[in-house]
Amino acid sequence: MTDAPTHARPFREAVIDLDAVRENIRVIAAQVAPARVLAVVKADAYGHGALPVARAALDGGASWLGTADLDEALALRAAGIEAPLLAWLHDPDAAFGPAVANDIDLGVSSAAQLEAIGAAAGAAVRPAAVHLKIDTGLSRNGVAPEDWPAVVALAATLEERGRVRVRGVFSHLANTDADTDAAQLAEFERALATAAGHGLAPEMRHIASTAAALSTPDARYDVVRIGIGVYGVSPYGDGTTSAQLGIRPAMTLRGRVAAVRRVEPGTGASYGHVWRADRPTTLALIPLGYADGVPRQASGRAEVLLNGAKRRIVGRIAMDQFLVDVGDDPVEVGDEVVLFGDPATGAPSADDWADAADTIGYEIVTRIGRRVPRTYLGVE
Ligand SMILES: *Cc1c(COP(=O)(O)O)cnc(C)c1O
Repeated sequence: MTDAPTHARPFREAVIDLDAVRENIRVIAAQVAPARVLAVVKADAYGHGALPVARAALDGGASWLGTADLDEALALRAAGIEAPLLAWLHDPDAAFGPAVANDIDLGVSSAAQLEAIGAAAGAAVRPAAVHLKIDTGLSRNGVAPEDWPAVVALAATLEERGRVRVRGVFSHLANTDADTDAAQLAEFERALATAAGHGLAPEMRHIASTAAALSTPDARYDVVRIGIGVYGVSPYGDGTTSAQLGIRPAMTLRGRVAAVRRVEPGTGASYGHVWRADRPTTLALIPLGYADGVPRQASGRAEVLLNGAKRRIVGRIAMDQFLVDVGDDPVEVGDEVVLFGDPATGAPSADDWADAADTIGYEIVTRIGRRVPRTYLGVE
């Protein structure tokens, strides 16, 4: 955080430190080398802003960018991103022509998708670059193992006809435990062997997201798909901190105290009066609520950093605001408050909020709402 005077700071804001993005990519790229890094910037870069994060990730050494939705990849291309892009979750009626025309690689999870992509490529001047996805045990999308030989055979035919180029074969892990990972990797190996048997030679084999990329060298293959690690949040729900992983949170969610009230014992506060003062105390009103992605579930549990100390939320988190109890400490309207950020600054982390709301850090950062302006540090 900078030392800018608080009166110059917005009412509510998510500060995104692009230097943290660059450094997180650098740290992870060094750890996974020679595998390359595909930075996952889906869902508006987990709420951080797709375009600035995409640029910073490429600066930091990412070779590829990935989104779930094709529209997000097309938007990055339209904004001038020239790096390789992969999109993998498709509308059943998706028109793949724009993907081929804009040189966006497509994840393929069914024969039907492959046919549609081949047809779109037939109308274009170049083959569509595809990454065939095998379901190795997550049971979401991806080709089921029993359908894999037929899909691979179709891909080989389309490749011979110049309609597609099979650049990749990939899968996604359940990140359950080492045994499940090993079973999925074995299934992945069988799928790769089947693809090779049909004459396919994908140069990009990829299965690891952040969790396995950092913990399981065998899962790294040619490329790792790094999402949450880009943003400096731990992928493990086990108390491992980002600092232990050598990464740091890119997002700081902050605001300014909107009102201060001294209350007497017995005074109820916020909806339902689920909290009442048990002593004379001071409440500070923080202008962020569940409309901004602050989870109501964290009512009475999460803490914020205000005037150098962590203060607990009291009463229910509302749509636009919540209260914290500051006791007898001084607090003024306009004081800076940090909901979460880099714990090295004394702030709670997104993972602390996740614990308080019984969810994961991914959801905390990704759901920060549109009403919260994003401000960028480290723009080059
Ligand atoms: C979201 C996603 C990732 C990134 O996962 P993280 O755990 O955030 O690193 C990787 N691969 C696929 C297919 C995804 O959908």
